[in-house]
Amino acid sequence: MAGIYIHIPFCKQACSYCDFYFLTRQQLREPFLEALLKEIYAYKETPYTSEIITSVYLGGGTPSLLNEKQLTSIFTALDEVFKLDPVEVTMELNPDDVTADYLNMIRKLGVNRASMGVQSFQEEILTFMHRAHSREEALNALDLLKKEDFPAFTADLIYGNPGQTPAMLKADIEQLLAFNPPHISAYSLTVEPKTRLGRQVDLGRITPPDDEEVAAHFDLVHTLLGSAGIFQYEVSNFAKPGKEAVHNSSYWTHENYLGFGPSAHSFWRDGHEAKRWKNKPDIKQYIEKKPDEFTDEIELLDKRTLAEERIMLGLRMVKGISEDNLQKSYQFKFSEKQLEWIDLQEEKEMLTFKNGNLKLTTAGLKLSDMLVVDLLSKGD
Ligand code: SF4
Repeated sequence: MAGIYIHIPFCKQACSYCDFYFLTRQQLREPFLEALLKEIYAYKETPYTSEIITSVYLGGGTPSLLNEKQLTSIFTALDEVFKLDPVEVTMELNPDDVTADYLNMIRKLGVNRASMGVQSFQEEILTFMHRAHSREEALNALDLLKKEDFPAFTADLIYGNPGQTPAMLKADIEQLLAFNPPHISAYSLTVEPKTRLGRQVDLGRITPPDDEEVAAHFDLVHTLLGSAGIFQYEVSNFAKPGKEAVHNSSYWTHENYLGFGPSAHSFWRDGHEAKRWKNKPDIKQYIEKKPDEFTDEIELLDKRTLAEERIMLGLRMVKGISEDNLQKSYQFKFSEKQLEWIDLQEEKEMLTFKNGNLKLTTAGLKLSDMLVVDLLSKGD
């Protein structure tokens, strides 16, 4: 079982906080598409096509800028090269691109899960984020998903925005809950250095909320979603039971995936060998060079690195990681020092370690990055 990720690097405008790889110039869309198809077809009859593809994810950028012909060519190429039997085909949509016809078109192409980039329903926050859509467009897009009976959807929310009060966040969550979403991704606003937001923070024009305010926002998200039956299953992801994302879960559990398009990552483990590689975030090279020339160096991953990654990713999930799995898959055992640290954190109620299953508590998940670094630093 494996997944496929396709990065569509075009956006209408640059959101102030975003550090993904994207371009706002649209002229290169057709040459990009040709290069993308070339990259997909380059996999034909390679060992990577032996596994059944159980999830496909079109992300970006803004995949919903692509038209029917362009999307059809991508799905046709995937179908001709890989053994597709996906339980989940997700496509990121920006609310301002969504119409009933567009939803029906992507559904006919096999997309069965829409990932709606809502972020907020407050005009002032959308303006601060420099999003291309308005509150009305977000409401309309979610409404259309319901009216058109789209099989599944998720919506993104961003909390911890400067000037965002708990009341504003509560209004956003309640507005979203009115659409009965099966899944929500909620992220705290991150200030990335090379973004417009990063520059404004550097210049002192914007002051992000402090950690306590952000933690209070997270608590609000956690409580309100939990009371609506939408439970946290990963640091930033919440779902009704059984509606967890298949594709993203495969990243956290080390399943194989192939990434296409500039900046896309791939991970492949075959028997004893595991490797990761990344396409350069450079559309010019992507268009001009041969598929094997725009890949950054392949990184070979040894068992220890894999085990540490698995711990890092697994502890982001509410269900945690099993000692048994670490032992069987990576011949990894916690060191004495790590076991002592685990005992200590258990006393502090940051984690639990029962029947060989290590998982962070809700309090621990808020500090997951720090805790994981601490745990790994105690390895032999
Ligand atoms: S639409 Fe998405 S990918 Fe594009 S700039 Fe905004 S956040 Fe980034």
